[in-house]
Amino acid sequence: MLRFDDRVAIVTGAGHGLGRSHALLLADRGAKVVVNDLGGALDGTGASTGPAADVVELITKNGGQAVASTDNVATPEGAAAIVAAAVEAFGKIDIVVNNAGILRDKSFGKMTVEDFDNVLAVHVRGSYLVSRAAYPYMKEAGYGRVVNTSSPAGLFGNFGQANYSTAKMGLVGLTKTIGIEGARNGIRANAIAPIAWTRMTEAILPAEFEAKFSAERVSALVAYLVHDSCEVTGEVFSVGGGRVARVFVAEGPGWQSDDLTPEAVADNWASVMAEQPYVLTAADSMKAML
Ligand code: NAD
Repeated sequence: MLRFDDRVAIVTGAGHGLGRSHALLLADRGAKVVVNDLGGALDGTGASTGPAADVVELITKNGGQAVASTDNVATPEGAAAIVAAAVEAFGKIDIVVNNAGILRDKSFGKMTVEDFDNVLAVHVRGSYLVSRAAYPYMKEAGYGRVVNTSSPAGLFGNFGQANYSTAKMGLVGLTKTIGIEGARNGIRANAIAPIAWTRMTEAILPAEFEAKFSAERVSALVAYLVHDSCEVTGEVFSVGGGRVARVFVAEGPGWQSDDLTPEAVADNWASVMAEQPYVLTAADSMKAML
């Protein structure tokens, strides 16, 4: 059994849904957990101490260790307070699961700048700020595990979610770069693109999906990714309904000419669009151009 004894984890947005499930699983397997949740509505308005406190109470009742934080991930002060809560209560920080999220869905033409900025603030800025606050502790310890929460909407696009999909693809870049930079200090970062039945999706998923798409089926992957034994870094995984699959950003073989004209591009479009054989890194992409 993969256990987390002596490990300290922060799970943001852990008062409901996926975050709650991640926090319960990690605590059940021995981790000391900071249960962070602002306790607002789905669109990010409002705040309440209830959700984080309820999850802490449940963990404690089950014999685990947890503290609550109702700080906002989207401000530097909030992120610093979340990490300080971990250090004060448990002395260190090993694991960060950036999960907090909000929705402000609107079609592209109708989306306001405020809807765009607020969604990016919680997902991208929040994941950046909490990871940034935890990073010095991880670097010093030569150990760290970060999981960021992307989405199929970000990887593949989705109607009405220009803000959310921008944020969720942004998290892929953040994840890959933390993975590259953190490697020499034992810090691994990965992203998940989940599908689960939560308050965020209950209005759009068919009712019969509730059991199959349980949050617990996503938490199983998260727990593996943040375990000591997991060496994986810089990867993205689609996860839901009991299925886990690698998602990757790849570049096809392309078509090359020393005399590249607009007409040559048009004439060779099928080769431009070819998918195999592909490369997976910026270095290999550059090599292919030489
Ligand atoms: P949820 O609404 O149940 O949980 C999100 C939690 O984040 C809430 O408890 C909320 O209070 C908290 N939160 C929001 N803003 C916060 C802030 N500024 N600071 C701290 N906490 C804050 O939804 P969920 O489905 O469990 O979503 C969890 C994550 O998974 C989100 O990032 C979401 O975008 C992502 N996601 C979910 C699905 C899905 O199918 N449910 C699919 C793709 C991605």
